[in-house]
Formats: sequence, structure tokens, C-alpha cells
Amino acid sequence: MKSFRKELWFNTPNRRDYINITNEVSVLIQESGIKEGLCLVNAMHITASVYINDDEQGLIGDFDKWLEKLAPHEPVSQYRHNTFEDNADAHLKREIMGRSVVVAVTEGKLDFGPWEQIFYGEFDGRRKKRVLVKIIGE
Ligand code: ZN
Repeated sequence: MKSFRKELWFNTPNRRDYINITNEVSVLIQESGIKEGLCLVNAMHITASVYINDDEQGLIGDFDKWLEKLAPHEPVSQYRHNTFEDNADAHLKREIMGRSVVVAVTEGKLDFGPWEQIFYGEFDGRRKKRVLVKIIGE
């Protein structure tokens, strides 16, 4: 069995951003040379997510609005976590959107259903953060 590991780095301009990373992950699968296996993609920070959904601007806006309703950033004083930080909402948003995804690799490609795309969800950006990509197989 072959194993391949790489990190993707981000420094988003906004506190919250939703970035389609499907192409970056596909390039890493090619680089790995693995044709049949599994690809894990996970956020390496507890205030960011990796999730799979549609790359449709309306839906991305709906996710952001929904997350802000569930865990609004302001007022920051509403959260007990916000003593020396102001990112309690980002921890909660990450929990809803998830830490990681696993996608089957078939014939050297991501074996997706219709419209599936991999996203990096950033909830406390404007600093360097990373995503781990681990691919195993033959
Ligand atoms: Zn925190």
C-alpha cells in the first residue's frame, strides 16, 4: 500500500470564507500516483472545517447566514470562551460543518456523486492555517 501526505495552506482575507479546494485535492491525487484508495481531507484547526457540498453561490450564502443564526459572532461577550479570544462562534461553527471528509479514489480520481465538491470552511481567518490531505491505496 502506498501512502501520501501533504498540507494545503490558507490565509483568508475575511473572518469567514468558503473555498472550493477540489482542484487542489485532485492535483495531489495525481501527484500521489494512487489509482485506487481513499483520500482524507481534514482541517488542522479547531475553528475551520472541511466539508462536501455544492459550489453554488446562493447555497454558500445560505450556509453562512444559517451558521451566523446558530452561533452569531456578535456580541462576543455572550460566550464564556471569549476571555482572551473572540472566536467562540468559530469553534461552534466548525463543529456543525465538520472536521474532515473521506472520498473514494477510483481510477486516479475523486469518486464523487453529482455536484459534490470539497470546501474549506474558515470561521476565524486572517491568519495562516492548514488542511491535511492523506491519500492511501495502490
Ligand atoms: Zn478559541
